[in-house]
Amino acid sequence: MKSSVIRRLFLDYFVTRGHRLVSSGPLAPADDPTLLFTNAGMVQFKRVFQGQERRDYERATTCQKCVRAGGKHNDLEQVGLTRRHHTFFEMLGNFSFGDYFKREAIAYAWEFVTSPEFLGIAPDRLRVTVHHSDSEARALWSEVAGLPPQSVYGLGDADNFWQMGDTGPCGPCSEIYVDLEWTPGAPPRVLSQEEFERQAEAGRFLEIWNLVFMQFDRAADGTLTPLPRPAVDTGAGLERIASVLQGKDDNFHTDLFQPLLDRIGELVGTPYPGSMEGPGASFRVLADHARAVTFLLGDGVFPSNEGRGYVLRRILRRAVRHAWLLGRREPTLSPLTGLVIDLMQEAYPDLVSRRDDIRKWTETEEVRFLETIEGGLGRLEELFATGVSQIPGEEAFRLYDTFGFPIDLTQLIAAERGVGTDLEGFEQALEQQRTRSRSARSEARAAQSGQGPAIKSGGRQKWNIVRRGKQKFVGYDTTRAETEPLAFRQEGGRVELVLHQNPFYAESGGQVSDTGVVQGAGWTLPVDAVRKDERGIVISGALADPFEPTPVEAQVAEARRRNIERNHSATHLVHAALRRHLGSHVRQQGSLVDPDRLRFDFSHHGPIEPATLELIERDVNEAIWANHPVVTREMPYPEALALGAMAFFADKYGDVVRVVQMGDSIELCGGTHVDSTGVLGLLRFRSQGGVATGVRRVEAVTGPGAYAALAAINARLHQAADLLRTQPEHMARRIEQLLQERDKLEARVQEMLKQGGGSAAPGQELTVGSVAVTIGETAAEDRDEIGQLADRFRAGRSNAALVLFGTSGRGALHVALTDDLVKRGLKAGDLVNRIAAVSGGRGGGRPAFASGSAGDPALLPAAREAAPRLIEEWLASA
Ligand code: ATP
Ligand code: MG
Repeated sequence: MKSSVIRRLFLDYFVTRGHRLVSSGPLAPADDPTLLFTNAGMVQFKRVFQGQERRDYERATTCQKCVRAGGKHNDLEQVGLTRRHHTFFEMLGNFSFGDYFKREAIAYAWEFVTSPEFLGIAPDRLRVTVHHSDSEARALWSEVAGLPPQSVYGLGDADNFWQMGDTGPCGPCSEIYVDLEWTPGAPPRVLSQEEFERQAEAGRFLEIWNLVFMQFDRAADGTLTPLPRPAVDTGAGLERIASVLQGKDDNFHTDLFQPLLDRIGELVGTPYPGSMEGPGASFRVLADHARAVTFLLGDGVFPSNEGRGYVLRRILRRAVRHAWLLGRREPTLSPLTGLVIDLMQEAYPDLVSRRDDIRKWTETEEVRFLETIEGGLGRLEELFATGVSQIPGEEAFRLYDTFGFPIDLTQLIAAERGVGTDLEGFEQALEQQRTRSRSARSEARAAQSGQGPAIKSGGRQKWNIVRRGKQKFVGYDTTRAETEPLAFRQEGGRVELVLHQNPFYAESGGQVSDTGVVQGAGWTLPVDAVRKDERGIVISGALADPFEPTPVEAQVAEARRRNIERNHSATHLVHAALRRHLGSHVRQQGSLVDPDRLRFDFSHHGPIEPATLELIERDVNEAIWANHPVVTREMPYPEALALGAMAFFADKYGDVVRVVQMGDSIELCGGTHVDSTGVLGLLRFRSQGGVATGVRRVEAVTGPGAYAALAAINARLHQAADLLRTQPEHMARRIEQLLQERDKLEARVQEMLKQGGGSAAPGQELTVGSVAVTIGETAAEDRDEIGQLADRFRAGRSNAALVLFGTSGRGALHVALTDDLVKRGLKAGDLVNRIAAVSGGRGGGRPAFASGSAGDPALLPAAREAAPRLIEEWLASA
């Protein structure tokens, strides 16, 4: 049975039994920083099991991508050397969130494993374990599966008790094992509990399925309380099931791995020896790691020097070393990634579009490590030759720092030779280096500026050549130069200079030009414009006094340049993060980098979800906090491409290009950058928008700009809180209160309207012609409140007019008309004027609602008396 069939069969089995088919969660769970990689099917349901989240289904089934190569579950060291462990594997699972429990879980598992309709594994080939305390499960295995009690073994907490963490859901497990020594037809042999445990230890039994019964909640003090709605979480290894059904005693010999082993044989020129003996282990490591690398890159994990990225890098370098053992001196994993995708694309179609990216990333990493591995292995051989019993910390650090050997790789190679590694010494050396590079960076910053007195006068001239020579741009390394002009020109009170050693950056690649000062003997030129022409970079500024082409001190405005650099480096990080989260179709389309902000345009369809943008922002900030060194190198263009550099304006680049690398980002770029990403401090997105079809734009601020943005938000928050007469932290409650009060008021208004629109006296209803007229009073004085009264009156009525007299004694009066009357040409203001005129007053407003006041409030009662008649006249006149 092909593994793709097993996968389908499993999911179909549970779907037909009322389970929701949920797709695999990502290997790098974005919202779970406590977890390096998804290592089991339940990871994506953690919050559901903890009761913090509800789904619209109570049963689910998944085929989950898992990696166990770091953190709590780490099988990395074992991989290649066992028949059943991988760094990347697929876990099939069925889940019940408080729906069914032990009985059904056991019945499903048993039916699926043994029924000829499904896996059809002979029952007497199976053994089952339960937690020794779980008599309920033990009884169910007999009752539901018909297993004789002596084939059900009880194990302790270490094997058969599961818990999510120190507190929270937990419970006993039950596991299904396949007897690898079973021969068809042989009479079933009963093993005692001791014998079973001994033989299991020796590897006779293969665990294929683990059923977890979450039935308790563990409190901080360790007490277990039964959960009101116990849950089920199961996990079955696809590779292991495939090995059983394909009659292999080794996962690596199934259809999931064999094609990879064959291809490796082709690459190295000798076939896979058929087992883990000798070079076989290296074949197996390569096959395994090719899968892990493909899936990790596919899920947006990129090689880096920390966290998930560093685990990936370690896997990659471990693979390179095994390929090296097999005699390979060129990339070996990268040509395998395509085959992994071919083998897996049916179940994971998303991989297909990432094919090139995945291959390129893998190759870049392999090439990079291949450059130094020989030196490192040579160094290790030298050490072994001296007969050391332990690799000293300093040496382990040198292997790490100079040759790129992850410490666990050094450890592994040393262990193979029976040699230990001084881990503590390594950590110390690592820490010392961090301190050193921090202080070196701050020294490099200690440059200052100088300014002299300004002088007047000027003239007009053509270019004057001071001396022959080629200009050199020194702005990558410094912001200050003692140099001399090669040429100058004066025009309209301005001086233009071409400096020999020029630290000023001329706008290019989105980065704005520098400003600064050039000081000569007796003159100081404030530089406010920088441009490029055939002579090189030309700087200029206004100078009113005579100019002498003397030696000069050129100083770029330091703080401004630092801010520009922050924002420029930020565009690279933003770019990399956008590609990670949105996909490799994201390409830079343009950018603007100035001291205050950065703007980045890129190809992408449709707006970015706010939640995704938040993740991207967080990702960029993590790269900032990781304080990646920014490494710039010059190299031939093809070499840069091989490195995986993102080259977007390829036609503009000459033969030798400048490659800027920071963390995961590798770009061709001629701009100036910070020394390490930590200098950015913080990045905040300010906006996103569309520029043209398929082109989006984000704007962001960093460092001081980001700080200012946060300070501004804080100030606005306090201002709003002051208006609400509360503290920012109580604002939400206060607003809630106000909204409640408003609801109450609105209810009161409605009540008042029902009583005739006035707050004091019930209204008088009369019909004039065909128009229903309500005459009432109101105590309300606030125009908005009265406006609301009017709106309520008008809503849902037709052919009706409301006349309200204020009771405050100021002689206010208001008229509201329904829309159909307005359409007939009637105006509320006319009626207000007619009534107000009785008391010598007037008014006005919109056709549907108008207000006025009595000239003499004492005459208002008279006006009210006259109202019905006035309305009649008014209607008649319309
Ligand atoms: P083992 O003791 O064999 O390492 P486990 O107890 O770590 O297994 P679980 O955590 O219960 O395994 O995971 C559930 C299932 O996932 C196992 O029954 C097995 O089929 C599979 N599985 C676990 N780890 C691996 C691995 N590294 N490679 C392949 N399959 C695995
Ligand atoms: Mg394990």
